[in-house]
Amino acid sequence: MGASPQTSVYICSKCKRRPAFYNRAYSGEYLCKKCFVRAIYRKAVETIKRYKLINYGERVGVAVSGGKDSLSLPNLIGEYIRPKILHSYIN
Ligand SMILES: [Zn+2]
Repeated sequence: MGASPQTSVYICSKCKRRPAFYNRAYSGEYLCKKCFVRAIYRKAVETIKRYKLINYGERVGVAVSGGKDSLSLPNLIGEYIRPKILHSYIN
């Protein structure tokens, strides 16, 4: 009963080396963990650029709720956007 997770049976559609752990339904791709993270980051950076959400020299405040999206954002900003100043307030 219940569907079994789609894992190691499939090989990553991107790198074609590592076992897939995620099936991207809208594209039909199977992604390994490394390619999944890259794809998410690339899409986020493209969205930030397309809609000019963050412009050069701007200060960025990040509110972290503890969910997967908000926990990923500081890492994404730190790695891909490289702000000069990043303050954090934790309460
Ligand atoms: Zn891969």
